[in-house]
Amino acid sequence: MIARTLFSPEHEQFRDAFRRFLDKHAAPHHAHWEAQGHVARELWTQAGRDGFLCMTLPESLGGAGADLLYSVVQMEEVARAGFTGIGFGLHSEIVAPYIAHYGTPAQQARYLPRLASGEMVGAIAMTEPAAGSDLQGIRTTATRQGEGYVINGSKIFITNGWHADLVIVVAKTDPARGAKGVSLFLVERGMPGFTRGQPLHKLGMKAQDTAELFFQDVQVGAGQLLGGPAQEHRGFAMLMEQLPWERLQIAITAVAAAEAALQWTVDHVQQRQAFGQAIAQFQNTRFKLAELQTQVQVARVFVDRCTELMQARQLDTATASMAKYWTTDLQCQVMDECVQLFGGYGYMWEYPITRAYADARVQRIYGGTNEIMKEVISRSMGLGGR
Ligand SMILES: Cc1cc2nc3c(=O)[nH]c(=O)nc-3n(C[C@H](O)[C@H](O)[C@H](O)COP(=O)(O)OP(=O)(O)OC[C@H]3O[C@@H](n4cnc5c(N)ncnc54)[C@H](O)[C@@H]3O)c2cc1C
Repeated sequence: MIARTLFSPEHEQFRDAFRRFLDKHAAPHHAHWEAQGHVARELWTQAGRDGFLCMTLPESLGGAGADLLYSVVQMEEVARAGFTGIGFGLHSEIVAPYIAHYGTPAQQARYLPRLASGEMVGAIAMTEPAAGSDLQGIRTTATRQGEGYVINGSKIFITNGWHADLVIVVAKTDPARGAKGVSLFLVERGMPGFTRGQPLHKLGMKAQDTAELFFQDVQVGAGQLLGGPAQEHRGFAMLMEQLPWERLQIAITAVAAAEAALQWTVDHVQQRQAFGQAIAQFQNTRFKLAELQTQVQVARVFVDRCTELMQARQLDTATASMAKYWTTDLQCQVMDECVQLFGGYGYMWEYPITRAYADARVQRIYGGTNEIMKEVISRSMGLGGR
């Protein structure tokens, strides 16, 4: 196996500490969280107390000033353990960075320390019932009224949506201008007219709260426009700028989940007997696992290299899209083959491989579907298209 060179001994120490956190605060409860459709709110406060949220923010804003790899370690460990209910990645490495990169000093001071402490849970709301891949088709509007705006519309499939105290809402501020008329707004829990549905009932990732959000005449001050007046209508550009990191995060979790599934399966086929021998003795089992191991190793090297590029701020959108599409396709293939090798047990919910199979499917859908990834990649090859 090719040794990984990404992490320092400090990162590995941190990995141990985060594993202990998950063992103590997630493992005993995850099955219950699946049943109720969301993790306990207390998990967020505990994670904030223990310094596991928004670690890459500067210390002055409540973070630890840590490098990106500390977040990568967290994503890998959550994926490996199959604790897909935990939405720390989206909160710490998608929502907080928008505010850190584009927020006004007042917005940064108001929200970032609260996100880092777990006092606030963050979400980002782009998708609508009538517009997912085609983001330019969103209908939510933010209409100027006096100094502020009035937001109307609804969002669907929003991760952390049910727990969220702060939602970055994508809305049209100038519907006639298409992508150049979109802005991002900071909407807080409790603002009159902002409501949410119950957590949605999903195929997998059952402990992750995914909700519908509704905005009816929600009045927000000018201070809720992310980045202030200079960023009005720049929402689409901001979304595009953040895409490589968001897509790479999905790839990171895909490879970590696939590695874990392979290990569970290797253990299982060595113990399980059929026809007087371990399942592992059948050539089909060994060849199948050898093929999967090879592909996951290839994915691992590619994703680690993308992570290095991300650290150097050199990861382009097309390469990140390759990572997202290829690793999540692979993740689903790995889960499917591993379930097969588990036989009937692979279809039983109490087996981690069964959950991992169900959890994997959405990875090809969210963060931009894999078909959209191929659009992006082909465009980078000069092949036109949409
Ligand atoms: C569990 C979960 C969590 C999510 N979390 C969030 C979140 O936190 N925030 C958020 O904003 N959204 C979130 N989403 C939404 C997700 O990003 C969208 O579901 C996704 O972008 C696809 O949009 P859609 O569902 O409208 O599908 P559609 O856009 O209707 O696509 C349907 C099919 O058509 C294909 N298609 C569409 N356009 C093209 C094209 N140009 N070429 C080829 N094929 C195409 C798609 O690939 C797909 O196969 C989440 C979704 C899920 C299921």
